[in-house]
This record gives sequence, structure tokens and C-alpha cells, in this order.
Amino acid sequence: MRDPNCIFCKIIDGKIPAVKVLETPEFLAFMDIGPLAEGHVLLIPAGHYETIDQMPAELAGAMLAQLPRLVRGVRAATLCQGVNILQNNGAVAHQEVMHVHFHIIPRKAGDAFRFNWPAGKYPHGRIEEIAEAIRQKLD
Ligand code: 5GP
Ligand code: ZN
Repeated sequence: MRDPNCIFCKIIDGKIPAVKVLETPEFLAFMDIGPLAEGHVLLIPAGHYETIDQMPAELAGAMLAQLPRLVRGVRAATLCQGVNILQNNGAVAHQEVMHVHFHIIPRKAGDAFRFNWPAGKYPHGRIEEIAEAIRQKLD
């Protein structure tokens, strides 16, 4: 299942090059061409799914199962002190390539990567209200 206009599908099909670090029939991990840090890796499914919620649960689980080994490799190779796993869904969430991917981003003290994390507060009762709405919508 590929999208002929998708850059990551083209990478899977070998139509455009990528520097690969791990390849299985179901997944590919390769170097991000615009790294936030040296050793920034992307993990993608071979099949074209735009966002994580479109993936079959078993496939998403199998994709997550690749992460510990990949992160160990990135840590050992870059001697980083920490790693962020980032997974953007939707343009509003800064997804630029519409093929599911996990970013594996090595972190070092004093590096340039910053989160804007504007933590808020719930008004009285709202946290339970929104939790109940989510519970009701679980399929
Ligand atoms: P997003 O913003 O969608 O979460 O991240 C997309 C990522 O894909 C970016 O970090 C960008 O540098 C990377 N990227 C985009 N096009 C290519 C490409 O052709 N090759 C590789 N290796 N990475 C790409
Ligand atoms: Zn694709």
C-alpha cells in the first residue's frame, strides 16, 4: 500500500535515496535529512498511513517494538545524554510529511532544540468532563 505522491513511500520503494539504519519487511529507519541533532533518525511503516490513528493496532505495536533497539543504537553511536521520541499527526501538529513517522532525536545538555510547552490549568470539573468525553469516544 503506497501513495505515489508520498516522499516516504518513494524512499520505501527505492525511488529516491535515503541513508538507512534498519530495514524489515514492515518498517524502515533512516537518517532525517534535516536533523535537529546529529543522529536524528526517522522510523516509518512500509505501508502508507497518514497518521497514527489510521494504523492497525498490531502494526503500531510492532512499530513501537522497534524503538528500544533503535534508541540504544542512536544513544551508543551519538553518546547523547537523552532522546526525544516525537510523532506529529496533522499539519497543525507540525506534520509535514503525511506518512506516519517517529522522530528519534538525540539530546545533549545545552543543545538548541526547545519545546514550547505552555502547560495550562483546568477550571473546576473540566478535567473529569473531558476525560469522560474521551472514554465515551473510545472505539
Ligand atoms: P514532520 O514535520 O512531518 O514530523 O517531519 C518530517 C521530517 O522528514 C523532517 O524532519 C524532514 O527533515 C524529514 N524529511 C523530509 N523529506 C525528507 C527526505 O526526502 N529524506 C529524508 N531522509 N528526510 C526527509
Ligand atoms: Zn507514504
